[in-house]
Amino acid sequence: MREIVIIGGGYAGFYTAWRLEKSLRKGEARVTVVDPRPYMTYQPFLPEVAAGSVEARHAAVSLRRHLRRTRLIAGRVTGIRSAVRTVQIRPVQGAEYELHYDVLVVTTGAVTRTFPIPGLAQQAIGLKHVEEAVAVRDRLMTNFDQAASLPPGIERRKLLTVTVVGGGFSGVEGFGELLSLATAMLRSYPELVMDDLSFHLVEAQGRILPEVGDKPGAWVVGSLERRGARVHLNTQLVSAEGGHVVLSSGEEFDSALIVWTAGNAANPVVHNHTDLPVDERGLLVVRADLRVGTDSQPVTDVWAAGDDAAVPDLASPVPGAHTVPNAQHAVRQGKRLAKNIVADLRGGRVRPYRHDSLGVAATLGMGRGIFQYKRIVIKGFPAWLLHRGYHVLAVPTWERKVRVLAV
Ligand SMILES: Cc1cc2nc3c(=O)[nH]c(=O)nc-3n(C[C@H](O)[C@H](O)[C@H](O)COP(=O)(O)OP(=O)(O)OC[C@H]3O[C@@H](n4cnc5c(N)ncnc54)[C@H](O)[C@@H]3O)c2cc1C
Repeated sequence: MREIVIIGGGYAGFYTAWRLEKSLRKGEARVTVVDPRPYMTYQPFLPEVAAGSVEARHAAVSLRRHLRRTRLIAGRVTGIRSAVRTVQIRPVQGAEYELHYDVLVVTTGAVTRTFPIPGLAQQAIGLKHVEEAVAVRDRLMTNFDQAASLPPGIERRKLLTVTVVGGGFSGVEGFGELLSLATAMLRSYPELVMDDLSFHLVEAQGRILPEVGDKPGAWVVGSLERRGARVHLNTQLVSAEGGHVVLSSGEEFDSALIVWTAGNAANPVVHNHTDLPVDERGLLVVRADLRVGTDSQPVTDVWAAGDDAAVPDLASPVPGAHTVPNAQHAVRQGKRLAKNIVADLRGGRVRPYRHDSLGVAATLGMGRGIFQYKRIVIKGFPAWLLHRGYHVLAVPTWERKVRVLAV
């Protein structure tokens, strides 16, 4: 029996395995997913998890529960040697070992990009994992409790100051959701008023949400500011030592909650520990059919998709463009990958991946959002409904959709 090994059970890996389970005939191949986490994280719900409008466990899709015919290995792949068809595995318990594969799928996603900023590692929390979203929420709620028992002053101000660094999707969504949560919590804290809150969104570029146009991006800035927040554009975090935030603009303030969402970096295992071809950004070079390599030099039986791969964007009018790293593509690439692997195993024809964007939707807090599809822009509550509705439909399995809706 052929061994299909999938590295990473996130969006792309989960959907590849799920579809393979449905398509493979009995005895045709065995599918193995290697991931240190026992669940696929539905990352688009993490801002809502931080705000508490989606339960943390509903943003985690259990691999054992939903991939019943797949072998699961709880561990991290530390190296890939396609020349000898093996991957090196560091299990969550026990010694490292090598695993042979006949077909390899690399879907390790990206990691949070960090910089050597003083205090960052000690003070800031990311927003890429369920545990981080829960930690952000816990910190805000604990800070409220502590602030309510203090008289007005420096310490109380620090506890009620929230800083989010990074104005991309996850930063803006996380910021908007935290702002909603904090504003709603004021109702339960008669000791505190809106003016006690201080919310800062820090973005190095001159605009936020690069996925939407300039005008909708500017509208989002305005809408956050109308809710009492500060948006610092063209500004970088210089230091966060001891929770004292120093910005490149010269502004300084104390902040007891710092959230770091300043972009993604290539997964180190793909970037540094493989003999597979990677581009200058550390992403796997893949062809339009999701096979690793180029048309002239394909790597036999190795496939990749999602945030760790530079997938040609056949729907883009720009020659040489690659698909943007988002869930919309990762899900569809996973499905296409499963079909291509099955076709390849049976000597059939593989097809290129092509997807025309369905537009972008972002939550800006409870009941607020922004949506853009080409030149159509929808703001406010209808956009939030579109965002929530899309993700309820997109979250895998009916059981999970019902749970998210039932919160
Ligand atoms: C806060 C937030 C909000 C987002 N909102 C949206 C949105 O609204 N719309 C949208 O389209 N996209 C959104 N995204 C982006 C989207 O979630 C990602 O593009 C998508 O998850 C990428 O899928 P993937 O399978 O490539 O990687 P992931 O889903 O990150 O999965 C990678 C998997 O690989 C595993 N892994 C990593 N390294 C190893 C290793 N060495 N060995 C074994 N396993 C490994 C990880 O544990 C993980 O399970 C959001 C992302 C974040 C963080």
